[in-house]
Amino acid sequence: MTSLRQALRLPFSRGSFRNPPRALSVTVTDGRRWPICETIMEFTDLGLSEPILKALAAKKYTSPTPIQQKAVPVLLEGHDLCGIAQTGTGKTAAFALPSLDYFARHPKPTPVRGCRMLVLSPTRELAAQIAQSFRDYGRFLKLSVETVFGGVPINRQIKALSQGVDIVVATPGRLLDLIDQRCFTIKDTEIFVLDEADQMMDMGFIHPLKRIAKLLPTNRQNLFFSATMPKEIEALAGQFLNDPVKVSVAPQSTTAERVRQQATFVNQAEKQALLHIVLKTEDIDRALIFTRTKHGADRVVRFLEGAGIDAFAIHGNKSQGQRTTALQAFRQGKVKLLVATDIAARGIDVSGVSHVINFEIPNVPEQYVHRIGRTARAGAEGVAISFVADDERPYLKAIERATRVKLDVTPLPENFLEAVRNLPKPAPQRKGPSQSPSQQAKRAEGQRRYQDQQKAQRGTPDKAHRGDGDGAGARKPFRRRRRGAVGAYKGAVQRTGAR
Ligand code: AMP
Repeated sequence: MTSLRQALRLPFSRGSFRNPPRALSVTVTDGRRWPICETIMEFTDLGLSEPILKALAAKKYTSPTPIQQKAVPVLLEGHDLCGIAQTGTGKTAAFALPSLDYFARHPKPTPVRGCRMLVLSPTRELAAQIAQSFRDYGRFLKLSVETVFGGVPINRQIKALSQGVDIVVATPGRLLDLIDQRCFTIKDTEIFVLDEADQMMDMGFIHPLKRIAKLLPTNRQNLFFSATMPKEIEALAGQFLNDPVKVSVAPQSTTAERVRQQATFVNQAEKQALLHIVLKTEDIDRALIFTRTKHGADRVVRFLEGAGIDAFAIHGNKSQGQRTTALQAFRQGKVKLLVATDIAARGIDVSGVSHVINFEIPNVPEQYVHRIGRTARAGAEGVAISFVADDERPYLKAIERATRVKLDVTPLPENFLEAVRNLPKPAPQRKGPSQSPSQQAKRAEGQRRYQDQQKAQRGTPDKAHRGDGDGAGARKPFRRRRRGAVGAYKGAVQRTGAR
């Protein structure tokens, strides 16, 4: 009997469709004919192996999302894939499921200090989230999954990688750091995924990515995902992909349809008063409040604290521990408000975000799309409220032009002037999202003791600063970092912590 693939004259490279879909239509991609099943209703139609189907059933996933319908058959055949899809579309499962399926069918010992699959993510939070998805979908397979990112001790990662790992999810900077130290190699990678390519570029990862491309073996399967595909991203894709099949599920700059989008014009100095009223009057389950800067995010949190409202901040100046604590508390509903810079606009998947508040408007329209995409997830409805100061009006115009959506302009509330007059004072500046007064006292005591010790070691502070005389002799001599040592690859380390 002629197989479907033979009938369509499609290229083969790895296996064939298992349990062919019940009904097929043909779509044209890159001038090639490719079968896409329009009536796929269940994961079983994709021909995934039993342990994966069991894990999906445990997660109560019934049918594949459009990106999964399009990507899984292509990837099961072993082709390279270029996917234009945002987070929230189910793209993690779209690349995780066929890869897990491949490992289930092709078991092999893990390469020493290497991996069989490498997933690159721009942020630590997204890396942790992707790794968790692999663990969830692969829970009935005996596969190892490790994360590699900065902001946490490198030694634990070196140890975890020493025996080799099946799947590594990494940010580029720490990955290169480990490679430079000869603690890890990617030369055995069979499947390579570059996720959120456009954010990678925004974060200045282009040079680390080019280095990584050179270190990968030539014989591998490549998957490339980006929310948008401007020319420079396409050029980057060209460096990794080999005759890819292109799939796309969201047109560029399309804002989530179920999000009610509002804007209020307000003076920058009076935004806190407006926020106070909005938080009191809106029916909020969970809200993400976006600022453009890290200091702006901290200022909003201090204001909210002063007003007796609990909120955490998440941005690039926070330690990894603080970022994880904040995100976890928000995920678990322990805190309803998370104030974030654009680091949290993409990748982070938290269900039940009813509101996105743009305390400051992003100056890049795409960023607005990513921000409001944090609400109205998984079929829910959402509200996006933007506070627009005079100097932000051009940003709003650019957003409306790019998204082709005119935001509903809501006037300032009636009691606004009164709220401005009675604005609560912000809480005093402090470190970390979760320090109680006793923790702060402990920290101050520790700092005092450390400073005293330093003084005792150096002699007088003046001498130590001049770098001559007795005091300077007590200081640690400057030692150049050995090539390949931690921090020797300066650019990569800095970039991991960017934003
Ligand atoms: P992602 O775009 O990968 O961040 O996924 C967005 C959310 O959709 C995550 O919470 C996934 O767990 C969930 N998800 C992915 N695929 C499915 C599916 N087929 N059915 C239901 N939920 C899904």
